Amino acid sequence: VKYVYNFSEGDKDMKDLLGGKGANLAEMTKLGLPVPPGFTISTDACREYLKRGEVPAELATEVTKNLRKVEDEIGRRLGEPTGPLLMSVRSGAKFSMPGMMETVLNIGLNDQSVVGLAEFASDERFAWDSYRRLIQMFGKTVMHIEGDGFSDALDKLKEDRGVHYDHELSAEDLKGLVATFKEIFKAETGRDFPQDPREQLDMGIEAVFQSWNTERAKIYRRRERISESLGTAVNVQTMVFGNMGETSGTGVCFTRDPSTGHSGVYGDYLMNAQGEDVVAGIRNTEPLSTLGDHDPKSYQELLGIMRKLETHYQDLCDIEFTIERGKLWMLQTRVGKRTAAAAFRVATQLVDEKLITMDEALTRVTGAQLTQLMFPQFDDKAPKELLTRAMAASPGAAVGEIVFNNDDAEAAARAGRKCILVRRETNPEDLPGMVAAEGILTARGGKTSHAAVVARGMGKTCICGAEALRVDAEEKTLAVGDRILKAGDIIAIDGTTGEVFAGDVPVVDSVVTTYLAHGLEAGLEAAGADEQMADLVNSVHRLLTHADAVRTMKVRANADTPEDSERAIEFGAEGIGLCRTEHMFLGDRRVLIERVILAEEGSADRQAGFDALEELQKGDFLQMLRVLDAKPMTVRLIDPPLHEFLPDLTSLEVKVAVAKAVEGKADPADEKMLEAVRRMHESNPMLGLRGVRLGIYLPGLFDLQIRALTQAAAELKKEGLDPRPEIMVPLVGSIRELAIIRHNAEQIIAEEAAKAGVELDIHVGCMIELPRAAMTAEDLAQEADFFSFGTNDLTQTVWGFSRDDVEGVFIPKYIEEAVFGVSPFETIDQHGVGRVVREGVERARSTKPDIKLGVCGEHGGDPESIHFFHEVGLNYVSCSPFRVPIARLEAGRAAV
Ligand code: ADP
Ligand code: MG
Ligand code: MG
Repeated sequence: VKYVYNFSEGDKDMKDLLGGKGANLAEMTKLGLPVPPGFTISTDACREYLKRGEVPAELATEVTKNLRKVEDEIGRRLGEPTGPLLMSVRSGAKFSMPGMMETVLNIGLNDQSVVGLAEFASDERFAWDSYRRLIQMFGKTVMHIEGDGFSDALDKLKEDRGVHYDHELSAEDLKGLVATFKEIFKAETGRDFPQDPREQLDMGIEAVFQSWNTERAKIYRRRERISESLGTAVNVQTMVFGNMGETSGTGVCFTRDPSTGHSGVYGDYLMNAQGEDVVAGIRNTEPLSTLGDHDPKSYQELLGIMRKLETHYQDLCDIEFTIERGKLWMLQTRVGKRTAAAAFRVATQLVDEKLITMDEALTRVTGAQLTQLMFPQFDDKAPKELLTRAMAASPGAAVGEIVFNNDDAEAAARAGRKCILVRRETNPEDLPGMVAAEGILTARGGKTSHAAVVARGMGKTCICGAEALRVDAEEKTLAVGDRILKAGDIIAIDGTTGEVFAGDVPVVDSVVTTYLAHGLEAGLEAAGADEQMADLVNSVHRLLTHADAVRTMKVRANADTPEDSERAIEFGAEGIGLCRTEHMFLGDRRVLIERVILAEEGSADRQAGFDALEELQKGDFLQMLRVLDAKPMTVRLIDPPLHEFLPDLTSLEVKVAVAKAVEGKADPADEKMLEAVRRMHESNPMLGLRGVRLGIYLPGLFDLQIRALTQAAAELKKEGLDPRPEIMVPLVGSIRELAIIRHNAEQIIAEEAAKAGVELDIHVGCMIELPRAAMTAEDLAQEADFFSFGTNDLTQTVWGFSRDDVEGVFIPKYIEEAVFGVSPFETIDQHGVGRVVREGVERARSTKPDIKLGVCGEHGGDPESIHFFHEVGLNYVSCSPFRVPIARLEAGRAAV
């Protein structure tokens, strides 16, 4: 195998092997952009390292060969005593994992080469600054030195010298600092700082491999559903220096504004600085546009490169660059992370600029982003106490108590309280707190700071660079002017406007939700004079309309009430895929169920109970069918075990026992009920007397539901409406079960139609939620007009576990142990449960090629699952009303 690729050997499509950073460095090299030479060690090498627990010997040889090539190109040798070549070692996995992995700069400096570098650059200060950075970064990331020893020493030195910024320290100061840093290094690690440049390099590479498995990286991957098995690539690259005086600098920029999508110059820049200085928020950065004044030549070149990259990638790119004494170098680019709003706007802007097609645009937005846009926002009209206004780094409206550290954030989240993590700046150590918090507020750093990038990635509200805030994490206080807030006080942050408010602020519907519910005109009206909002509404409308036009799957909703059905239809549902009828037996109607159960089979009493229920159900169905006029409505016959409608066994037992003890006898009605409850009690109700089993066991129960539905339909038909009910039988496992119910249903439908003098075409089908049903779907299809895969139950029955019993208990552990990438109840387990679905589809169609097939589990609203259902050829998905727009979008995306 080949483990190492020179930048000139790869391209942007090799992310699996070279990681995102390496693939894009190669692509930029190919485009002829000024990229410092270097090479990428592949993810194969990392996986091999993780497997063997040591660096493969072949790798060392390849590194030597590739290093030699770069040295020859530059004309200098790594770490040689005069004019040394220095390298950076940079991690880069397939998916960008901001701040997760480690970077080491200035590899190759030692006690000799630092002198050589000073002479070579004619700048002593610069050389010693680079050396102290190496010891610090190497100490922290390669040797895992914890604590603030290095930065405390640096701060103390600045204090002693009475200066504010690093770059105000002299060469002599920095020499002294290097000596101090070496002492810290030795004290913490028990060894001297390695002087051999190649040893530094090899240790750096190994540290990057290891950093794949840090706790922080694991948390991030779990959250982002990135597979544990990918591994990271390592980029080894010639150093260029942004810290070589006032004509040098380093910066980060976007080709468009990542929060609005507007094209223009967006970025932060820092003169005389290196690497992470910009994102760490250590010094306040300058807006990129001022670079035009400092260094017009580099600025113009950068603008040209930005245009070139955007045209080439046909998307918003983010860029890291460094200027070394007036020469511009590109250090990184990638298709940039963006807010949900920007994703929609950028996609349609690129269409309007003729860079991409509408189909392509659809692939650039996701259902998850649309979900974010549907979040409520702060009410404009509510009274608010504005504390300060800062950088709107990630949109949303978050309210919660102030917390200053991970522990407090996690404690609040565990207790079910919302919190806002407030930090001076964040770094990767703060990740658990960021995960637990509703929103993040920092006092330092710009749109490209760690807090901003991570928050956008996680879809959390974030405001950064709120310089008016004085954050004291030790004392747990937050001060603005003379207003002082403490941990536990409530604040509200608006990640769209950058406003920070003291106290609670009420939230209102999002404009996008208004559009989704009431149409384009209403959406635009709600946007009012806000052009960006109006732009967003238009973009969402265009993309959703396109999704509707291209998708092959219909989208229905799971809804049991007229209100939910109305909402679903507003959101674009084309029918109801699952109307559960069990709630129609609750409340006041419970007594009727009790009466039915207590009565003898075939008795007049039981029939009276049935009749009463039938009348009530008919009323329910009339309402629902009216709302759904001309749209299909799938009614699932009663599914849960009957005892769910009866009193609780234990409390009834206690009641009867207490009555007997105190009064010598219990109420005979209670005793009779207790007997019934005991009879119906099941130790494993999920697999017990429910669904079709109940329908067969308790004759008349399904019949009353079918009759109520049929009568309701007949009545509406006579009114001139177009009711389209479908009868769905739950938990069927055998053709005989379905045949019995279908036979009854057909008889009832025929009777009622004749009575009413109308024609009724009511389809009868069943759910596929048992493995046996899927595996015999070719039989069931003979008796069914449609199937609906109930993937919740199917997941339970295929895996053999019940959701309620496992969800909080072992699923988290299983995710940690990578048994699941994600809970199989959230995203369908394609490999197992999905295979059963696929087989069911094939078998069903082998009998009835045009049988209608849908899905009505919660997976029907999950983006990844929707793509799978499209692929296996389902006709529709059914999901909760709020997810209908997301399902429309994702079904469209799946089809392009
Ligand atoms: P991250 O993945 O955290 O962005 P990078 O590998 O991009 O880490 O490194 C962080 C920063 O280090 C870069 O933004 C850049 O400023 C600096 N850096 C990395 N390699 C070099 C290099 N060869 N020359 C100069 N600076 C570098
Ligand atoms: Mg980094
Ligand atoms: Mg970077």
